Amino acid sequence: METDFAADHIIDYKCNICGHKNNLAAGDFHREAAICGGCGSNARFRGIIHGLSMALMKTSVPLPKFTKDRYVKGIGMSEWDGYAKVLKKKYDFTNTYFHQEPLLDITSDDWQKFTDLDFVICTEVFEHVLQPLQVGFENMRKMLKKGGHLVFSTPFNGSPETVEHFPGMVDFATCQIGEDWLVVSRKADGSYEIYDQNIIFHGGPGTVLEMRMFGRESLLAQLRAAGFAPTVFSQAIPEIGYYWPKVMDRPELGYPGEHYVILCEAI
Ligand SMILES: [Zn+2]
Repeated sequence: METDFAADHIIDYKCNICGHKNNLAAGDFHREAAICGGCGSNARFRGIIHGLSMALMKTSVPLPKFTKDRYVKGIGMSEWDGYAKVLKKKYDFTNTYFHQEPLLDITSDDWQKFTDLDFVICTEVFEHVLQPLQVGFENMRKMLKKGGHLVFSTPFNGSPETVEHFPGMVDFATCQIGEDWLVVSRKADGSYEIYDQNIIFHGGPGTVLEMRMFGRESLLAQLRAAGFAPTVFSQAIPEIGYYWPKVMDRPELGYPGEHYVILCEAI
């Protein structure tokens, strides 16, 4: 985070998803950790709920205090149950999935099933989406009302340009030979390429493949081109446990990971 703390500084925080009071040394915070003792949320989930609060409530309030309104319509994409089940009680909220009903493949025409939305939550999806990626950003905008909000996160770093791990790939298979994982990439012209480098799975070997590392400026440019006004939450909000140290989480790519929550207004 742009706000940084000494590693031994103790951060007291009140989870904005369940209200549980926690404390943890700053050096032990991590985007995917700093687990709340009450609900099991990580720092990223608390950032997502902060973003949604800013969108719907215009201030940062804990999720249990969001005003119930069945006319507020939103969707998520494979969201964590810890907040999805609360959103279902408060709003007309649908959690969609890539591999099960209700289906949403964001680069297909599936978006037409979910229109006139007040909000879309999309966290840790776009690093896995096959090209054409811009269509995915545009479809999220098309699902939203003007003035609606996308609460978004994906891995990105301070590099200006997005780095595609498998350029030109339109379909793929992964396979394991001995200890090595390979990606077999099919390109638009029907030709194949085999990769044995930069194979990063999210959730363990052979699971969801990372396609790219977004560069900050190019990610923001794609959001703007799709019709969004993005705000990057790069400042720590220690009181709700939205914080992680500024670390080189991908030193092989040469840039510090940023990976902050981005709130995007549909304009
Ligand atoms: Zn909690």
